[in-house]
Amino acid sequence: MPQDLSSLRNIGIIAHIDAGKTTTTERILFYTGKTYKIGEVHEGTAIMDWMAQEQERGITITAASTKCFWKKCEINIIDTPGHVDFTIEVERSLRVLDGAIGVFDAVSGVEPQSEVVWHQADRYKVPRIAFVNKMDRVGADLENCLEEIRTKLGKKCLQLQIPIGIEENFIGMIDLVAQEAILFGPNANDPIVKSPIPEELEEIAKIKRDELLQSLCDLNDKILDQYLENPRAISIDFIKQVIREATLLGEAIPVLCGSAFKNKGVRPLLDAVVDYLPSPLDRGEIFGLSVKKKSEEEQIGRKPDPEAPLSGLVFKMANDPFVGMIMFYRIYSGTVKQGQSIFNSNKKIKEKIQKILYLHANKRTEIPQASAGDIVALVGPKESITGETLCSEGAPIIFDSISFPVPVISLAIEPKTTADEKKLWDCLQLLSKEDPSFSFSEDKETGQLLLKGMGELHLEILVDRLKREFKVEVNVGTPQVAYREGVSSERNAEYLLEREVNAVKQTGHCNLSLFPSEDVEKQAPNITLNFSETLKKIPKEVLEETRLALESACLAGPLTGMPMANLKIQVNHIIWDEETFNPVAQQMAVNQAFNKAFEKHSPYVLGPVMSLEVVCPQEFTGEVISLLNSKRGNILGINCKNNKEYILSEVSLSELFGFSTVLRSRTQGRAVFTMKFKCYAALDRENSLKVLKERGIVL
Ligand code: GDP
Ligand code: MG
Repeated sequence: MPQDLSSLRNIGIIAHIDAGKTTTTERILFYTGKTYKIGEVHEGTAIMDWMAQEQERGITITAASTKCFWKKCEINIIDTPGHVDFTIEVERSLRVLDGAIGVFDAVSGVEPQSEVVWHQADRYKVPRIAFVNKMDRVGADLENCLEEIRTKLGKKCLQLQIPIGIEENFIGMIDLVAQEAILFGPNANDPIVKSPIPEELEEIAKIKRDELLQSLCDLNDKILDQYLENPRAISIDFIKQVIREATLLGEAIPVLCGSAFKNKGVRPLLDAVVDYLPSPLDRGEIFGLSVKKKSEEEQIGRKPDPEAPLSGLVFKMANDPFVGMIMFYRIYSGTVKQGQSIFNSNKKIKEKIQKILYLHANKRTEIPQASAGDIVALVGPKESITGETLCSEGAPIIFDSISFPVPVISLAIEPKTTADEKKLWDCLQLLSKEDPSFSFSEDKETGQLLLKGMGELHLEILVDRLKREFKVEVNVGTPQVAYREGVSSERNAEYLLEREVNAVKQTGHCNLSLFPSEDVEKQAPNITLNFSETLKKIPKEVLEETRLALESACLAGPLTGMPMANLKIQVNHIIWDEETFNPVAQQMAVNQAFNKAFEKHSPYVLGPVMSLEVVCPQEFTGEVISLLNSKRGNILGINCKNNKEYILSEVSLSELFGFSTVLRSRTQGRAVFTMKFKCYAALDRENSLKVLKERGIVL
């Protein structure tokens, strides 16, 4: 634990897939003395990518957290994946980080997925620095990257370095703050050589430094005064301080460059983490809801103080083959000790902490206690899950949870042997605890287990983990789109239930209207429930029973059994009699009214539509467009930039199975794509009939 909180950094590395996040992290671990041999992603030996699946696929799936030290600073690093199927990992890391490094590919610039994660980071107000990586690649262009950061990400850039040499001749950079050249040898271990700025670069260095100072003057009056007096007299420390202030306020992004793969620029990047990214003290007080007054939504704060009452957020869980379920826990205030009992304020239960661990990718060290600002792994809690607050019972608080995307794809599986049935169920429970973007249920008709997730790759990897980590062999069906049921037009229905149970009269009643939701792009399932003004006089209990009944009715549409989506429910009227009201009768009446609204209508099936961006070299534009047309995609725009074509479209998810393989073969592997869920939209008649037929519904 750091003596001084100001020397702690909790940072994440965020970027588009392949920008070099994992390589950069590996180099950071090497230079901070955590590893003795450099792991390479393409050799499958990168230390942060420790799950077997990651090593084989060369991608990062789970955000592994690790601790290292640089110049009196203690740094907790979270490596986050770039693939859109795993955005949840990015989201939950951002929730608990204090600062981040955005890694960009010097050739490709700001790619779609970088934009997505960057804006996620904006939402969590995470201060960032940018590292323009791959300066050694043919076509590397720092100026273009800077321009794209300005225009696409809408941020003011503070260029702190200019490269010396480019592409294969890239050997180092000029530090515009210290006004010196930084040169790297060919080997990772070669010490950095600092020298005066080479003559041929003096002119450009002067211009760029002046640009930097002027940008700082725009942001800060103190430096403006000094600049007007004598720009050359401004001290390095003062410049750094002004850069730091601007970065912490999110007013500007310091931009550095380098080549992680060629071991150039990573040590200056670490210096920048120390100099410009926030400590938990800088992030200051974190707010949450007070537990007692939750209904009044009273906000209370927790300062990053080890002496304050304990509070923190569970932001990730992972099943460890040796110690069982571990929880990644960001401590916002106070101190947690081994053996202590701790309060889960969401569930209002106590949990026992058996062990506290620091993790280094796949290794771990046990520690007796940890306090405010730190990120640790906890072993012991049984009931808590991702997104919940663990705190001191005497001073409860609930922090904002993490928002999770909707699963859009499902996959039926069954154990190969009946002996594995129970084990499979247990394993799935473990996996869904680890990953809230994954869920599973039993299909009542077929008895099969349905896994639901964010995309084909997401589910494929989960099935792979079942086999490998848990040694459960399963038969796997083909992935299915998670369809929904909706309504095509307004419907009204009313039901009055009167019955006698043990000679006691019971009643329930509901008059309701259903409408298709106008705002189809709202977060799925996009169901809103309204009680009409006239119902204000009805007791809360009656409305509550009505709400519960409607919520459960929406889980399975009356005509297809598929969950409902894009629906507006309006409860117009309830006949309520104090003497005869009965909760069960009320729920039955609501259910009947809901079902009645669907009578004489044919099923209205909705399917997920994805926003899809394909990036390819210009010569493949025609090919990609014809591919998208064959998938009945709707092309929204084509932009050309740096000889690359950005093709934005909307396509039904059902058309996108195996898309990555087809795209690869049609473009010689030169195109990449990202997709994300956009909305649910009605299927055409032909597809509706097909989907219904698969479910045994014949019209
Ligand atoms: P991630 O998906 O962002 O984690 O990216 P990786 O670190 O896995 O890197 C993707 C690929 O780019 C790998 O083949 C790396 O070896 C390569 N790479 C990473 N950094 C550099 C660099 O600085 N220069 C070059 N030429 N290649 C790099
Ligand atoms: Mg990676």
